[in-house]
Amino acid sequence: MKRLLLGLLMTVISIPVMAQQSDYPANYASAPRFKALVAYDPHAEEAHVQFDKQAVNFFHKLSYGEGYLMDVIDDMEKFPTSYDQLKEYSIIIMLNAMPGGKERRDAFERYMENGGGWLGFHASAYNDKDTHWDWFNKFVGCGTFLCNNWPPQPALVDCDTNDNPVTYTLPSQFVVPASEFYQWSPSPRSNPDVEILMSISPKMYPFGIKDVVNFGDFPIVWTNKKYRMVYINQGHGDESFIDATQNLLFTNAFRWVVSKDPTGNPFEK
Ligand code: ZN
Repeated sequence: MKRLLLGLLMTVISIPVMAQQSDYPANYASAPRFKALVAYDPHAEEAHVQFDKQAVNFFHKLSYGEGYLMDVIDDMEKFPTSYDQLKEYSIIIMLNAMPGGKERRDAFERYMENGGGWLGFHASAYNDKDTHWDWFNKFVGCGTFLCNNWPPQPALVDCDTNDNPVTYTLPSQFVVPASEFYQWSPSPRSNPDVEILMSISPKMYPFGIKDVVNFGDFPIVWTNKKYRMVYINQGHGDESFIDATQNLLFTNAFRWVVSKDPTGNPFEK
């Protein structure tokens, strides 16, 4: 009994001593550390707007405690038309939308060419013969939209690498929640500037019920190494945020883009 009491006493007094002896590992910077701009188009198809609103909520929760300041644009007509307005943001998160009109596109292009950060979901990379924005095609690193599975389904995905910070903490293979997934022509894998981070597993073929994708290279998450950007193909419907592993992917991608801010890594300030 005496030994037990002594043991308890040592446990109680050892905690503050330990805390004094080592540097506390957390870094409590004065918040907020940076600014993020989140943009979506409320007039997009319903399943995209469902995702977009959940994504706004997801990134808003990540900002709790004013870790960062977040501005939300829910009308693409209000997307900034000048580089000076954009450059205050460490990251622009595009939810199923892209800037339209020459002024907005020029401002965004200048922002990205000068070290801007971009995290794009799903239709934010959609482009075809009617997009008429050659620079964007080079920036996003893929070809034009080729085909998709339908309806939205969960999918087995492979991490092409677990060495990149975006996938470092993820399993090499896991199932992501239901979404519509796009294939591109040509595949972004054929672009030497692109690092593919995640792909639909070939085990999914034939993938789809109404619209069936039977074969082909199927990257869904990548970065164009010439820019501070990550593209994530998920982003359709209301199930994208039900899975902790996929939420970690989203957080990792967001954090990595921000961490490479040319003015310094905000998380180390
Ligand atoms: Zn979609």
